[in-house]
Amino acid sequence: MLKVNLMDLDREGQVQVQATIAPDDPLWENLDLQLEEGVEVDLTFMATPTGQVIARGTLTFVPRLQCRRCLEKIRQPVQEEVTLVWAPRDEFQTAEGEEDAGEIRVLELDSNELDVTPAIREEVVLARPVYAVCRQDCKGLCPRCGVNRNEETCDCVLDEPDPRWDALRALKED
Ligand SMILES: [Zn+2]
Ligand SMILES: [Zn+2]
Repeated sequence: MLKVNLMDLDREGQVQVQATIAPDDPLWENLDLQLEEGVEVDLTFMATPTGQVIARGTLTFVPRLQCRRCLEKIRQPVQEEVTLVWAPRDEFQTAEGEEDAGEIRVLELDSNELDVTPAIREEVVLARPVYAVCRQDCKGLCPRCGVNRNEETCDCVLDEPDPRWDALRALKED
């Protein structure tokens, strides 16, 4: 669990957090996400005069992906620039000036520590690619015989009429 001590933050004005969260950390459980390596966290936390906590930095990770066209495994590291904002509940409505900050999270004031792992989990899930291809010109699998058309050529004829037209044609003939 990654925590930032708010007392330290108040005293120092700025706290840097650098850590690697293991790919088998319970944090990633129950997500549709598999990681090849640990998630590298590099964030600088700052306290604002209005009581907010702002973290800026990067999350770097390597999701286990499959090419959507040919189904080959791909290694596609992601480096996501993030800005995270926490605000005390009563300041929540008045948090301002961070239009590109995205979601503002609640800063619980009954603890001296801010647990940043839920935010990291959310950001990683948002940042992972949902449509991955091994390369832009990937030819994919042959829809008839299933060969990987990047590696083999087959003799399948693919410009046959769309079978949906058959249904229309059948209707006309009735
Ligand atoms: Zn591919
Ligand atoms: Zn084929």
